[in-house]
Amino acid sequence: MVKAEGVHKSFGHVEVLKGIDLEVAPREVMCIVGPSGSGKSTFLRCINHLERINAGRLWVNGHLVGYREKGGRLHELRDSEVAAQRRDIGMVFQRFNLFPHMTALENVIEAPIQVKGVRRAEARERGAALLERVGLADRVHNYPNQLSGGQQQRVAIARALAMEPQLMLFDEPTSALDPELVGEVLDVMRGLATDGMTMVVVTHEMGFAREVGDTLVFMDDGVIVESGDPRSVLTDPQHERTRSFLSKVL
Ligand code: ATP
Ligand code: MG
Repeated sequence: MVKAEGVHKSFGHVEVLKGIDLEVAPREVMCIVGPSGSGKSTFLRCINHLERINAGRLWVNGHLVGYREKGGRLHELRDSEVAAQRRDIGMVFQRFNLFPHMTALENVIEAPIQVKGVRRAEARERGAALLERVGLADRVHNYPNQLSGGQQQRVAIARALAMEPQLMLFDEPTSALDPELVGEVLDVMRGLATDGMTMVVVTHEMGFAREVGDTLVFMDDGVIVESGDPRSVLTDPQHERTRSFLSKVL
């Protein structure tokens, strides 16, 4: 579903990704952990072409991200083509970024109506079902400021799902939440994983990584230091950098 080969990304003279190689299979849940500044968010942003990579190749669903290859050369895609690629990818951030003047349901149905041209009645029906799926059946008509952080994040997940993505990217979706609200969001993500969604999750929640993740990737300083079955990486890390990081977060 995702394939990265030698992905490099620099900002000015600062090389942030120094050759990332990985593969995410359909229905796989990959968790990415690593210290602040190691390039985790940047890598997620490269996957949906919010950042342009400097070298290497990235594919989502068999399609080269942001480019077309022709005669061995890369040609940049037009904005509309990039937008079409992004439609398959849902993204959930640390900050929920809901539209404050719209109810939960309106937030969820906005993109399907505006971007996909789904009829309003149909969008509302599907939106209500999605809000029910994330446990918010009774909050459909609430505005974001009437919802807790955990509820807002669950609306954000429903909103991403409304576009029927094939891949979901999560960037520290629970980091901004009060501790007692983390579980309800992780439960929704666990449900998604059980339903077979392909997910790449940057997180500090090691319990989630262990129980839900198929693969755990440890990134440091722009490289993948090690990756593998979460239980083995967590209990028997092979590299000193991984051990040192885990000793601080576990
Ligand atoms: P955190 O755990 O704190 O979220 P991270 O692993 O997600 O960290 P990134 O946000 O990917 O790290 O940042 C990696 C490096 O790239 C940092 O040194 C950061 O300052 C730099 N960086 C990120 N975005 C930009 C940008 N748009 N311009 C310049 N530098 C950037
Ligand atoms: Mg980050």
